Amino acid sequence: MDPASDMNSARRTKHGFTPARRVAGLTVCIALASLGIIFALPSGTSIERGHLGMMSALAVAFMLSERLIFHIEARQEANSYTPTEIALAIGVVFVFPLELVIARLIGAFVGMIIWRRLPAMKLLFNLAHFALETLVAVAVFVAISSFHGGVAMTWVALLIGINIALVTGGMLVATAISQFEGGLYRLIRNEVVSAPVFHLPPAVLATLIAVCATVDPWLGLFAFTPAPLVWFMIRSHAALMHRHRDLMSVHDFSRIVGDATDLREVATAAAERLATTSRAERVTLRLWTNDGTPIDAVIGRPIDRRHLPDTPTDPGWMPLLESRHAWCLNAGDPTSPAGITLGEAGIDHCLIGAVTDEHGPVGVVILSDRQGASRTFDEDDRARLTSMVQQLAIVVRKAQFHSQIQHEAAHDRLTGLPNRGYFEAWVDAGVDTAEEPRAVLLIDLDRFKEINDAFGHHAGDTVLIEAAHRIRSTCGPLDLPSRFGGDEFAVLAAASDVEEAKRLAEKISVALEKPFELGVATVAIGASVGIAIAPLHGRNAAGLLHRADIAMYDAKTRCIRSSVYCDDLEETDSTRLTMLADLRTALKDKALTVEYQPQIDVATGRVIGAEALARWNHPEHGQVDPMVFVGLAEQAGLIEGLTQQVLSLATASAVEWQRRGWDLAVSVNISAQSLLDEGLGSLVATALSESGLAPDRLTLEITETTMMGEATRTHRILQGLADLGIRLSVDDFGTGYSSLVNLRHFPISELKIDRRFVFGLMKDQNDDIIVRSTIDLGQNLGLTVVAEGVENADVHARLMELGCDRAQGYGISRPLSSQAFLFWISDRLKGVSTKSEPMEQVTRCAAPLHHVEV
Ligand code: C2E
Ligand code: CA
Ligand code: CA
Repeated sequence: MDPASDMNSARRTKHGFTPARRVAGLTVCIALASLGIIFALPSGTSIERGHLGMMSALAVAFMLSERLIFHIEARQEANSYTPTEIALAIGVVFVFPLELVIARLIGAFVGMIIWRRLPAMKLLFNLAHFALETLVAVAVFVAISSFHGGVAMTWVALLIGINIALVTGGMLVATAISQFEGGLYRLIRNEVVSAPVFHLPPAVLATLIAVCATVDPWLGLFAFTPAPLVWFMIRSHAALMHRHRDLMSVHDFSRIVGDATDLREVATAAAERLATTSRAERVTLRLWTNDGTPIDAVIGRPIDRRHLPDTPTDPGWMPLLESRHAWCLNAGDPTSPAGITLGEAGIDHCLIGAVTDEHGPVGVVILSDRQGASRTFDEDDRARLTSMVQQLAIVVRKAQFHSQIQHEAAHDRLTGLPNRGYFEAWVDAGVDTAEEPRAVLLIDLDRFKEINDAFGHHAGDTVLIEAAHRIRSTCGPLDLPSRFGGDEFAVLAAASDVEEAKRLAEKISVALEKPFELGVATVAIGASVGIAIAPLHGRNAAGLLHRADIAMYDAKTRCIRSSVYCDDLEETDSTRLTMLADLRTALKDKALTVEYQPQIDVATGRVIGAEALARWNHPEHGQVDPMVFVGLAEQAGLIEGLTQQVLSLATASAVEWQRRGWDLAVSVNISAQSLLDEGLGSLVATALSESGLAPDRLTLEITETTMMGEATRTHRILQGLADLGIRLSVDDFGTGYSSLVNLRHFPISELKIDRRFVFGLMKDQNDDIIVRSTIDLGQNLGLTVVAEGVENADVHARLMELGCDRAQGYGISRPLSSQAFLFWISDRLKGVSTKSEPMEQVTRCAAPLHHVEV
């Protein structure tokens, strides 16, 4: 019996010598011990004189036993069982010790060279311990039989000798293995425990054969007949142990690996277990995360990345990745199901398994450089790896699912950015301990609600995704962008001072000001950014976000890109909340007023009408900016009440003007939210019927973006209004990037060129081009073109040159109360005519443009 060597060569020693050197030393010691025994043994110990024929027969038997070797791998240990007992027993009985040793060494050497291709060190170690084993058998046999010359005692001596020799051999192997793997005690115990199963039956048979052979060689031959059966039984037992070990290792594998929920942990644990159970010195395990990022766990020398599949759908690897069983591959194989050229990857034989389930591949593992009695992987290894990768696939899916859930809990589904919870936790964890100051930027998109209301949620989502992308790409690698829900984003910036934070806020704002392409239209958004600096403005997320929010609101109200928190703003913020309550009261008490800004015919100077602009005189704060209170009303759902009050005041004023003899039209602004309100039609109709104003004297101004929104719905509502006979005007034209061609489908009568373009008319070539082409196109479509924001006579003159229809602006008049408006008209006409036929006079009037201030 030969528990053959098994050595891992890679592991390093704790005591200075490498394991290989220690085994070399052990080999030398064993060889010297063998020599010692040879010299110590009395000559002529065999029962019969050996001769060359017998020696050769034994050598052949020892050689063949190397062919009949099979491995017994129980748990981590791999032993090899070689049926040498019979040859050994006969040799002990029939030939001289030296001859027996020579026959054993020659036979084993040839056998190992032909069938086992062992490395030199293992070969030498095996030869040395075979020699010692053989000599121990002889020595014990001689020692015991010399006590008592009886025949029976001779056979007992032989039986004991062979067993002691085999156990000695096993222990020597265990000692050698333990140099690499440690665990000498465990290995020796295993050897002693397995001896009754593996060594005793063949030793008994061997003794029986030797006994019979001394009586008659033919009887010996007869006694040999059960030998194959005994060999077969031991082999079957070993196979059973194998299967048990495989089951246990797959079970252990799932248990150990299955505990991990993090994919990286799974990879590391799995690679380690696969290396141990398959006795592979090199393991490369690649698993893919949900988003296809590879995670590698490597044991031993790594395989170059270009020899591994990049993705689970790597075409070169598909046949292997899709197969549900592992493959044994050799470097020379002409075809391989894997996109790997083993030779180039420095592998001559390997076991590859795809970690795949019914949903597809999630990983791949390559095992090579098998250690142990056998250098190559066999069918058992392949079957075991197949079960293990199947188990692994389940664990990987579980880990992927776990990380997905974790990711989803911490991220915004729409934009993929970290969510508020994650952001706050990150700020709380980082800010207090950070040496450097950090900035919290709170970003709120301007006009998002308008776009969302007008174009629908799908368009809103597109804007948010694009905004998230722009914010992310503007941020540096150390900044943490996040989405808080709605149109609110935040960034924890690694800005070291206020100036740096402001620069980043500015960059983000600029990025968000670039037009957003929605398919149906292109829209302009912009953003307001509030900045709070840690630790100056707070040491935790709650405090910093509260202050950044106040600063953000300040930026929004002041129409600036960004604002840094300061204590004064805190007051402003609480003002906002009281303002909201006050606005509610004002609307209830009908405390809002309206001012009228005159509109004139550019060519003739004739007054055509006026735009009604809401005014709120707050009891404490005085006049509130309409942008602020209209915004508040929109946020608080008060806009319908506001529109209704302005409509009723404006229509009443127009009727009053007519009563006074001025046939003037009035324009009223309609916010995006009101336009989606099906009740708008009846609101307008009521105002008209209550005031008695002719519908064609009322114009509703609707911003361009609003109009381009949910086209069918908007179209239906606008058509309903047009059917009432009122005029519709596109306000702030030019800011929403919509094309006139799209607007043509709406029942509109007027275009109001946004004041931003009109301001720059004399200074900016581009503005001049925009204004000129808008006038051309608008008029070609049969629309009246109004220029708002006319601040001086030069602009007015240019508009006249360009043939613009109407003008409105501070240069003509600031918004006036209804009464003041009437005075303004009268003033304008003074000296031109009397007020007897005002309607005619207004029509006839072609007064030059004056800077009329009332
Ligand atoms: P808008 O509809 O574009 O109104 C024109 C704004 O431009 C008015 O500001 C007006 O005072 C200002 N303006 C007129 N001429 C000139 C000029 O020559 N130079 C400059 N710099 N500005 C000029 P106001 O009254 O502050 O209103 C601001 C915005 O508030 C309006 O913009 C409109 O969007 C909104 N708004 C005002 N009243 C109402 C209302 O009753 N309902 C709704 N929904 N929105 C209103
Ligand atoms: Ca307007
Ligand atoms: Ca406007």
